[in-house]
Amino acid sequence: MGTDLTGMVQRELSDEELLALDLDLFPTDCVEFIEKPKPCEGGDGHTSSRTTESCCTDQGTAEATCSGNEQSPNQPTTSEQGSDPLCEGSGTKRRKQDGRIPLERFGWKYLTVTDLSRQAWCEQQVVYGAELPHIKELREDIPVVKAGSCLHLARELEVQDIVPITVESREDKWAVKMLNLLSMIQFLQAGELELRELKTRGNRTYPSAAQRKSHHLQVSIYKLLFEAMIKGQLKKDTITHHLRLRTEQPFGSEVLAHAQSVGYTVSTFGDLLDLVLLNLTYAEIPTVDTLKIEYCYQADASVIGTEVVPFEEEWVKSELRHYCSFWKGQREARGVDIEEAWKCRYCDFADICEWRQSKAEEATRKNRANQSK
Ligand code: SF4
Repeated sequence: MGTDLTGMVQRELSDEELLALDLDLFPTDCVEFIEKPKPCEGGDGHTSSRTTESCCTDQGTAEATCSGNEQSPNQPTTSEQGSDPLCEGSGTKRRKQDGRIPLERFGWKYLTVTDLSRQAWCEQQVVYGAELPHIKELREDIPVVKAGSCLHLARELEVQDIVPITVESREDKWAVKMLNLLSMIQFLQAGELELRELKTRGNRTYPSAAQRKSHHLQVSIYKLLFEAMIKGQLKKDTITHHLRLRTEQPFGSEVLAHAQSVGYTVSTFGDLLDLVLLNLTYAEIPTVDTLKIEYCYQADASVIGTEVVPFEEEWVKSELRHYCSFWKGQREARGVDIEEAWKCRYCDFADICEWRQSKAEEATRKNRANQSK
């Protein structure tokens, strides 16, 4: 994915910058998840390894390339990695016996917008992806997925210079994202804003209505998040609590040098966070006027078409409430309805999917009942 916000000057705001703020910007009834430290982190939930983070100097867009001990929020806990859900009888039964809410069970700290838009496609698939990450990871090696990633990267490199910066803590990693966001504020102040999402396709065709629905949800959530951020609804405590970041943590030498080189005399993560939130709130950044999705053909990078997405706030919020109720453990995961059973043909988990199996059995029962009438 590559999302940009376009003002009078074309600007690109990467997914990382918006996604980095993730769920913390959602309406409060959607964000009160309980987080668990990730297994790779020490007892205090922090790593001390040195990793390299890319920082963009020219036009200020962050490209996060976290490595080392940092895990994706979508990786399971060690205990889950060590067990094979398929060897433990019914997944549904096992999930019910586990008293934890899904976020706790998967060891996730927060949700990304990508998680939510995938959920709109098939919630059950997201659950299998979390429980069986090795299958999901295989998908990332598929040529069509790789080609899409290359196009996104190429698009980002058109508008930014990348400078590698060594980070020494998780706070350093987030500081780089925050510095990039700060450097972009001046561009975001420029006139009308257009949020543009890039989607790449293996065929020179528009996606199906079901795919487009999940894309619409995705860009609509971006707008909600962005606007919550510039309206001062994003709180420091929310960030530090959900991401388990230490405000008093001093920057590593390279992050400190970079902050100074771009004109900021901050030395701890908490100071930088204050500065970012203050700037976002008082910089008079306009709201996003237009949401667009550009569909691009992977083979030659030509544009298939651009869709303008109407923003329907009530619809987005109601979808979010529905999806979040699963993460909060208020209901079971749902697979696709029978009308969308075609999605199962493209699903990596079709062979093991209990939802699909139960729907097939239900359909067989109904057929038999109809025949016996
Ligand atoms: S097989 Fe169908 S219902 Fe099951 S996870 Fe895949 S898409 Fe969803």
